Amino acid sequence: MTIIVRYHEIALKGRNRPFFVDRLAGNLRQALSDLPGVDVRPLSARVSVEVGDDAPWDTVRARVGSVFGVANFSRAQPVPADLEALKRAALDGVRAASFSSFRVTTRRSDKSFPRNSAEIDRELGAAIHEATGVRVDLEHPELTVWVEVLRDRILLSFAKYAGPGGFPVGTSGRVMALLSGGIDSPVAAWRMMKRGCRAVLTHFHAFPLQDRSTIDKTRELARILTRWQLRTRLLLVPFGPVQQAVVAACPAPLRVVLYRRFMIRIAEALARRHRARALVTGESLGQVASQTLDNMIVIGEAARLPVLRPLVGMDKEEITEQARRIGTFGVSTLPDQDCCQLFVPRHPATAARREEVERAEEALDVPVLVAAAVEGAAEERFEFPGPTGSR
Ligand code: ATP
Ligand code: MG
Repeated sequence: MTIIVRYHEIALKGRNRPFFVDRLAGNLRQALSDLPGVDVRPLSARVSVEVGDDAPWDTVRARVGSVFGVANFSRAQPVPADLEALKRAALDGVRAASFSSFRVTTRRSDKSFPRNSAEIDRELGAAIHEATGVRVDLEHPELTVWVEVLRDRILLSFAKYAGPGGFPVGTSGRVMALLSGGIDSPVAAWRMMKRGCRAVLTHFHAFPLQDRSTIDKTRELARILTRWQLRTRLLLVPFGPVQQAVVAACPAPLRVVLYRRFMIRIAEALARRHRARALVTGESLGQVASQTLDNMIVIGEAARLPVLRPLVGMDKEEITEQARRIGTFGVSTLPDQDCCQLFVPRHPATAARREEVERAEEALDVPVLVAAAVEGAAEERFEFPGPTGSR
């Protein structure tokens, strides 16, 4: 079968375009790599994807529909590059459908074809109208007949499926996303992937002070997110020793902010090792006590790398809705023993002051705690499709 993949051209100016299209084609190849007879080729302003006819269409459709950078796509029927053959194939196609209005939209990448796009639109439109009696509606057609004129053949299609949009993963650099096992952080990582970033995922756990539930959840979340970015590294970082040190030496109301500052510092050190250029969190302004503007600022100051917060202005309902569509919601809401539930005070500080936090940290050997956590990090790799799990 042949699939025509379209991307938004407006976003791609000049020199960036070949880079973008190469990545898009490479990611489409990877997303379909376990299917027979895959051949992905950039055309002018399109990408054509061939997949063996024994591949299930539902699978192909789901895979292509999860590659960022795909604006929309159609399953296309190849027809000889000849106007009469095109008319016959189009009439066979429309006779099988029921619709009350239509239009023809032609794109001609082979300029040597004897008719231009507007002429093909008109001639084919007239033939369909004559055969079916259905009226043409250029503005809101119920059915659109898509015609792509290539050098050696014409591709004809009747339905168009929406892709996820955005930019191909790998075109915007690498980021380090802090993944908690909750609802928000997988959505934050996904939004950065959609903008073309590859996200390395870092999870802090308090095993063996707590059970492995968040580790299992983040592995499963990494597996789901890998459907979108195709290759993922997950770093599992032991955080119990940091928490014990904070609890032993610092005022209870500051614990949550201090935990977060340590997470940011450790994530920054790991980001530098993995050549990630920014940190990403699932924070949303005001959602919980640790996410007041005051606290976000004091937490962000623990790192030199920028902290990106793609969900900062979103409501919980909006985030939840996205989590459902991405496919992470079910896993995120499984019960767990989150490390941040460990030793949390009844009344955490909502407006931590920098001087106060820095004074509390003087009681700790911050560089040693950070280095130990970095050294203790375990890396797992995921790939989609294909074998997943640790190396
Ligand atoms: P989430 O739904 O992502 O867990 P949350 O609403 O529970 O977020 P917080 O617990 O305040 O909010 O965490 C804020 C952000 O800090 C998370 O979105 C995540 O990016 C990061 N974070 C929190 N706990 C962890 C953890 N154990 N490991 C990695 N990152 C974490
Ligand atoms: Mg959480």
